Amino acid sequence: MKKKTLIIGAGGVGNVVAFKCAMNVETFGDITLASRTVSKCDAIAKNIKEKVGVTLATMSVDADSVTKLVEVITQVNPDIVINVALPYQDLTIMDACTKCGVDYLDTANYEHPDTAKFEYKEQWARDAQFKEANIMGLLGSGFDPGVTNVFCAYAQKHYFDEIHTIDILDCNAGDHGYPFATNFNPEINLREVSAKGRYWENGSWIETEPMAIKQVWDYPEVGAKDSYLLYHEEMESLVKHIKGLKRIRFFMTFGESYLTHMKCLENVGMLGIKEVEHKGMKIVPMEFLATLLPDPASLGPRTKGKTNIGIFAKGMKDGVEKTVYIYQVSDHEKCYQEVMSQGVSYTTGVPAMIGAKLMLEGKWQGKGVFNMEEFDPDPFMDELMVQGLPWKVMELGADESRRVD
Ligand code: NDP
Repeated sequence: MKKKTLIIGAGGVGNVVAFKCAMNVETFGDITLASRTVSKCDAIAKNIKEKVGVTLATMSVDADSVTKLVEVITQVNPDIVINVALPYQDLTIMDACTKCGVDYLDTANYEHPDTAKFEYKEQWARDAQFKEANIMGLLGSGFDPGVTNVFCAYAQKHYFDEIHTIDILDCNAGDHGYPFATNFNPEINLREVSAKGRYWENGSWIETEPMAIKQVWDYPEVGAKDSYLLYHEEMESLVKHIKGLKRIRFFMTFGESYLTHMKCLENVGMLGIKEVEHKGMKIVPMEFLATLLPDPASLGPRTKGKTNIGIFAKGMKDGVEKTVYIYQVSDHEKCYQEVMSQGVSYTTGVPAMIGAKLMLEGKWQGKGVFNMEEFDPDPFMDELMVQGLPWKVMELGADESRRVD
């Protein structure tokens, strides 16, 4: 029977998910795009009709309200809800899916608007509720988290008996021409990068000051880049699921201009997430800043350069030490040509579509709430190759590294 798909969120990532689902219409069937501002859904639907020839239904939804979500889900009656709104809406959308008995997928873990801290606790706590409703929830099906988790599962399945260390390496060498802008939602992005760093070693989490650890890594097809240690959510699930792991860290590249702007904004209080009073009005500095910054969706036509995201893993196979680097390179301009979005939205939206495709096809199935590395990585890796995110594996000697400082 023809499937029905509901996508919630019409930002940069929502645009890519909608395009890619339309390009795989035989799997996704009748597609509805719903978001807070229906005009954004209509604009995306118009572009898809013109470029892909598929008609999407559009509607507005307040995804902060379980009641409103239940109304929309009941009306659309989808086989899956793809949540690409903001992390603040994860729990309401999960609860609405439970009430309606519909499978759920997202790309970022829940974050409370008042606390700049993201963790899986509250989403994992819904596992029993999902099992009881006989539905599946797939958490973090973007690039990182998402593909990075799948890369780890793939390395574990095909290259190692035990993985001892993993460095997740996220490089965006794109240039949008602005002195300062963020490639996805500014508020979520700045909360993430201004938070303390954290990595996991020998069973404990070690906290660092923001941007305190810098290394220089040589990224294939991009070159050597300053990379800073950040906390990133996929580490929380990977430490549970990767055998023999002793250490996992996450590094992201930042240019000088980005860091200088961020430090300055932070020093003057513009990254604050608590309300302040301004001329009798209450404003949240970070929200005001997000209003001033370029809309990430508008960066698409002006961004040039490449992204390279991957995992650098060391461990043992048949008693011998080895090193494997699995990575994916995307070109911002090519992404824009295909789906009218820059590379960061593209590399997030394509894996969201693939996760949903595997669920609808029954290739990834289960009852409860899951992280990506819990499933067989092979069908996902096959889809990446044909859906626009081809990857490569580099096998290195035990002592070889891509670190160049
Ligand atoms: P945007 O800010 O561009 O888009 C968010 C969309 O959600 C907007 O259309 C917005 O509506 C809509 N929205 C927000 N609040 C509500 C609400 N209460 N009800 C209904 N709709 C709402 O964000 P991005 O597209 O850049 O990011 C989307 C998600 O992808 C985020 O969760 C982000 O963290 C995640 N992400 C994951 C990555 C990964 O690799 N795993 C990488 C990058 C992003 P409106 O247009 O009205 O504002």
